[in-house]
Amino acid sequence: MLKRGFKGKVIQSHKLKLGLPRITVSTCPICGRLVPARVFERDGKVIIEKECPYHGHFEDVYNGDVEVYEFMEKWAVDGIGLRNPNTSVVKGCPWDCGLCSLHFSHSGIVNIDLTNRCNMRCPICFANAAAAGYVYEPDLEEIVAMMELVRSELPVPAPAVQFAGGEPTIYPHFFEVIREAKRLGFSQIQVATNGLKLAEESDFCQRMADAGMNTVYLQFDGFKSETYAKARGDPNFLEVKMRAIENCRAVKPSPLATVLVPTVLRGVNDDEVGQIVSFALDNLDVIRAVNFQPVSLSGRIPQEALLEGRYTLGDLVNDLLAQTDYFNSKEDFFPVPVAGIISELASAILNKPYVAFTSSPYCGLATYLFKYSDGGTEKVIPITEFVDVEGFMREAVEMLPDLEKGKFKIFKLLRAKRLLKYIDEGKLPQGMGIKKLLWSLIGTGKREYLAKFHWNSLFIGAMHFMDPYDYDVVRVMRCVVHYATPDGRIIPFCSYNTGPTYRRLIEMKFSMLPQAYSRRVREIAAEAVVAKGSV
Ligand code: SF4
Ligand code: SF4
Repeated sequence: MLKRGFKGKVIQSHKLKLGLPRITVSTCPICGRLVPARVFERDGKVIIEKECPYHGHFEDVYNGDVEVYEFMEKWAVDGIGLRNPNTSVVKGCPWDCGLCSLHFSHSGIVNIDLTNRCNMRCPICFANAAAAGYVYEPDLEEIVAMMELVRSELPVPAPAVQFAGGEPTIYPHFFEVIREAKRLGFSQIQVATNGLKLAEESDFCQRMADAGMNTVYLQFDGFKSETYAKARGDPNFLEVKMRAIENCRAVKPSPLATVLVPTVLRGVNDDEVGQIVSFALDNLDVIRAVNFQPVSLSGRIPQEALLEGRYTLGDLVNDLLAQTDYFNSKEDFFPVPVAGIISELASAILNKPYVAFTSSPYCGLATYLFKYSDGGTEKVIPITEFVDVEGFMREAVEMLPDLEKGKFKIFKLLRAKRLLKYIDEGKLPQGMGIKKLLWSLIGTGKREYLAKFHWNSLFIGAMHFMDPYDYDVVRVMRCVVHYATPDGRIIPFCSYNTGPTYRRLIEMKFSMLPQAYSRRVREIAAEAVVAKGSV
């Protein structure tokens, strides 16, 4: 089912040209016009350059380490797109979102903004809720309709929804929305939050978990008060994060899984990335993952400042290697589409399509760390220490065409079982059941095995969302992180927030002025009082 490539050999689908230099399409950061761009190597970095006929020449760092870039590119895997696109191809990417019939991936996770209101005023917020001057807050019926749309995607209904904003926890029907998501069959329900509500209302986390919330995506930028002052406008915000984590930990019968989401800015908190991972490892009972996000830039930035200030995935890998002793090499980090190969294995064996994270290879990186006690000494090792990930994936890619053609599950399983030779469980105490878990995942496609795999480890992920300076159309065409909108569309994250800036158009179309919103809030409050009185 995949149009796949390994070591640049096979990309059956068009448009993703591997190797450097390569030509692509980007945007002018001043007027937003689509312009041709060139991606090339200079002094060990990958640079993107482009020329707008009206605003001149622009250069930016696409990836701060060409070795990391080239390793990521080896794992280019294109997806199968959508069988029931919502829009037609009229103007061309990225003007036809979406998803249009050109899009390469189905939705891996879909964001739904519940509101653009927020209980904070962060200087680096891409949603820019406070400054908008209007209130975007779809009503409950509209939110449910968006979730239904997402669940109707073919051949794979999106399995994961993330409520975002603004600050989604202040949405008036927040708990009802979670219950509706559960009813609609999402297997992963998440909330992206600044943590304020979770910290301030002691039972908020328990109520979320009881309603069906699976994971808290907690904005967490580090430990220094200067970091919070610069990134969030409040030097004392760490204390709020800590209370939020404690309240997630206190949830019964088991802690509410929490993912730390640091936005990384060069010169602000890039010196804290290692400490953030160590903190997560010390709190593995509640913190399941760290998901780094190099900051997206906006506004007019002088050329030199851009080339010096840009923080990329390559920089993050180098910082994690320098600041911790958990990793062995840059090749401990694999690009997102590697996960797509595991999905394809399960799909081929079980004759059933599973969600595949087939983003472009340039978008994100991930790895796992395993922590265990060795004679009383705590040890942390990366997954590559006991799994030959490269060998596993290479053989998996080679056997996929035969598995896809095969008829009988038992023969397919026998063939795929050869892959287990790439796992050396002897390096872990009692093997931690890794072979069994992985085999159960591939053989059944059940998410519970993936969840168990996660419970044994710390997932480290990173996604570099694009901005007008490093925008690359080949990436957005393959995007797996989407937004659902009230007008019945599903729009890739980096189209929604950058490039054509669908966010502003959609929010304005479906927004109300603050006065009208205040009236509506008073009505909701009055309805709640009446409802309470009638119980
Ligand atoms: S980003 Fe995807 S959905 Fe949007 S226009 Fe491009 S291919 Fe179509
Ligand atoms: S959100 Fe942006 S960075 Fe992430 S997969 Fe989509 S295009 Fe790539």
